[in-house]
This record gives sequence, C-alpha cells and structure tokens, in this order.
Amino acid sequence: MLEISDLSARYGAIAALDHVSLRVENEKVVSLLGSNGAGKSTLLGCITNSVSCRMQGSIRLDGKEILGLSTDAIISRGLVLVPEGRQLFNDLTVEENLRMGAYGFEHGRKWRTDLERVYALFPRLVERRRQVAATLSGGEQQMVAIGRAIMARPRMLLLDEPSLGLAPRLVREIFNLVREINGQGVTVMLVEQNARQALRIADFAYVLEKGRLMGSGPAPILAKDPHVVSAYLGEE
Ligand code: ATP
Repeated sequence: MLEISDLSARYGAIAALDHVSLRVENEKVVSLLGSNGAGKSTLLGCITNSVSCRMQGSIRLDGKEILGLSTDAIISRGLVLVPEGRQLFNDLTVEENLRMGAYGFEHGRKWRTDLERVYALFPRLVERRRQVAATLSGGEQQMVAIGRAIMARPRMLLLDEPSLGLAPRLVREIFNLVREINGQGVTVMLVEQNARQALRIADFAYVLEKGRLMGSGPAPILAKDPHVVSAYLGEE
C-alpha cells in the first residue's frame, strides 16, 4: 500500500500541496480529481521524485519511507509515472520508445516478453512498431507512453491526464485499457480532469482543491456527491 501523510510541497513561495494525506491500496484504481492548478501533477511528481519542489511529510510504500529516494530507486520499487503530455522521444520509433522503458533493467530481464505483453495490450502498436513517435496520433502516442511504463514492470502506474487532447471515443478506449492493466494486478493512481471517466473506472477517489484534500470516498458515492457533481461532472 502507498500511504501519503501530511505531505506539503512548495515551489519557492508558492504552496502547491498543503498537508495532504491519502492512501492507495494495492490492486485498486484510485483517481485524483481537481481543476487546473489544484496540485495533482505535483502530487504524482512528489511520489516519483520527479518535480523540483520542496517536500515535507511522508510517503511510504508498504511501510517504508520513499520520500527523498531518487526517481530510479522509486522506479525500481515499482512506481512508474506516465507524465502529462506523454513526453515521448519524437524521433525514435514506437519500439525504440518502448524499449526505453526497460532501460536499466535490460540485463537479466526478458524485455522481449515485456514487449509482447505491451503489444498484446495495444495491438495497434504492432503495425506501427517502426513508425517514429512524432507521426503517431494522440491516442497512439498515449498508448506508447503507457506501454513504455509497462516495460518497467510497474506494480503501480501513476497516470497524469491520459485523456488530454483525445477524442471521446479514444478517451473511452484508453480508460478501458487502464482498467484492463489494473485487472492484471497493477495498482493505478489516475490524475484526470475528465472526472466522469475517472470515476467510472476508479474504486476510490480523492478531490484536491488548491493544494488541499477536500473530499474522498468510493467512486460511485463521490459521483453522486452534490459538490462533485456541480464542480466536476456538470451536465451529462
Ligand atoms: P493541471 O491540471 O493544470 O495540470 P495540477 O492540478 O496538476 O494542474 P500542478 O501542476 O501540480 O497542478 O500545479 C500546482 C500549483 O503549483 C500551481 O499553482 C502551479 O502554478 C504551481 N507550479 C507547478 N509547477 C511549478 C513550477 N515548476 N514552478 C513554480 N510553480 C509551479
């Protein structure tokens, strides 16, 4: 289990997170809702130590403190971030991008087996394996970004806005795939502005507003909460 206690984060004078405490239980999908600037990306960045902010508090994985460990050490413990905006290597092919996810683990690991696992999840990438990332559609790029993370054999995937910029049909497809990956035993922490879809696939959700946790609960219950409905769900 991942347990965050009293986590605060600052960028210089700007407080991005203010005493946030939450838990992500193994093999669950946990969504984090919040509007622009609420601190969602900062929270994922703190967990993976991939943001340049000052952190205070505690982040424990199975009871062991991970706050302050290097990003590589955190990845090797199984926590892998899929950053907002995909951040692929544009000039590299699909397969080269995927192999970057196994970088550092290639010796002693059967990366080809991992590659086959990614292609089984995303069959569309098989026919595009030699195409450079820059020429892929947004949905395909997102698949590569998630696939690259899977190459690191995560026990927990941290997804930052996977639906950003995608057409509604693709959004649904990506979320269904996230659920499928979770079905293979991977815990998921999902940051999303598409609250409706995020709640649809989540077991539990938290609401972050201006760096503070303002609500939490099982996803089906939060989906009926009047504040959540008016602030994040709006009209169907
Ligand atoms: P969005 O949905 O727009 O990505 P978010 O909820 O992920 O928003 P964050 O990106 O975590 O929010 O930002 C939280 C706050 O921290 C914002 O006020 C933002 O301006 C500030 N912030 C984020 N990154 C930096 C940075 N590198 N330097 C200074 N301030 C930052």
